[in-house]
Amino acid sequence: MTGGLRGYELVEVGAPLRPTERDGGPLAEDEVLVEVAGCGLCHTDLGFLYDGVRTRHALPLILGHEIAGVVREAGAAATHLLGAGVVVPAVIPCGACADCRAGHPMICKRQIMPGNDQDGGFATHVRVPAHGLCVVPGFTGDPDAPLGAAGVSLRHLAVVADAVSTPFQAIRRAGLRAGDVAVVIGLGGVGGYAAQIARALGAWVVGIDVSSARLAEAAALGVELTVDATGRASRELRKQVVEACRAAGVPTTRWTILECSGTAAGQSLAFDLLVHGATLCVVGFTLDRLEVRLSNLMAFDARALGNWGCDPAYYPEVVQMALDGRIDIASRVELRPLADIATAFADVHAHRATRRIVLVPSVSA
Ligand SMILES: [Zn+2]
Ligand SMILES: [Zn+2]
Repeated sequence: MTGGLRGYELVEVGAPLRPTERDGGPLAEDEVLVEVAGCGLCHTDLGFLYDGVRTRHALPLILGHEIAGVVREAGAAATHLLGAGVVVPAVIPCGACADCRAGHPMICKRQIMPGNDQDGGFATHVRVPAHGLCVVPGFTGDPDAPLGAAGVSLRHLAVVADAVSTPFQAIRRAGLRAGDVAVVIGLGGVGGYAAQIARALGAWVVGIDVSSARLAEAAALGVELTVDATGRASRELRKQVVEACRAAGVPTTRWTILECSGTAAGQSLAFDLLVHGATLCVVGFTLDRLEVRLSNLMAFDARALGNWGCDPAYYPEVVQMALDGRIDIASRVELRPLADIATAFADVHAHRATRRIVLVPSVSA
């Protein structure tokens, strides 16, 4: 076999994903075939299936962009990767165009996002460009073997491809430093990791959510202040956070606000939490619109930053943080068989999944 695979494809918005097979073909010079060890189920996949968010590639398409796996076949320029355990960045820029060379790889027009621009990781194998891959240090060939001080497996590392790396880039762009205050809105998958990364970098972290379970989990991870936003006005929440910062002796200015809920309510709250010198990072995604007084950015000398994916150049550092346990991924991940993909989508859609679901192909081919 060369490049052939089995997976589940999206045929039509709202319709069940359909089992499918792809015939192989020769790999390009800079292309590899990765045997999927795990592929995380992301909020974005729900958008494609349930909400009519359009994939850039026409349907049918195999979804899944949060992939870790083992390189099984390689094009002529990538044979050094054969057998390597890799994390596949959710967005792989070309590295050669004018935008890439100008230091803006995330807006590369030739970027490849598996499960959006081409078939993704809800499959036995996935074909991806070799140049963006992050090789996992210490991998010896067994996707279930514990790695690093944290003892996580290659399957768990799938979440690094998106849920962990995306907030990492947002936090780096914001310029968060030790002693700063980070406010994370929405403590689910991405937000939970955002809170952990901010703590690992020495910030004083505020976690805001409407789920008492997620708030308790964040508190257990050491988040300094957890705030239940259920039914409360943003003015009141802002006052509570300011007072807590004063009491703790941490800044009431220059907050890094990470909107990770991907909801209009979360985005509205994030904007209302702007303080002087704040940086608002829009990490979550929603199709909903928001009405804000944009001049608050001017009045507070604040800024708002978007964040699409994560530059592959950051991945080795993020993988290392997961391997040495500075970011806890294992306890926040649930491995499930790929064959149960329909139930997995339904559970995440109905908010029945408390952990990030990583789908694992049961048959190795
Ligand atoms: Zn995603
Ligand atoms: Zn490019």
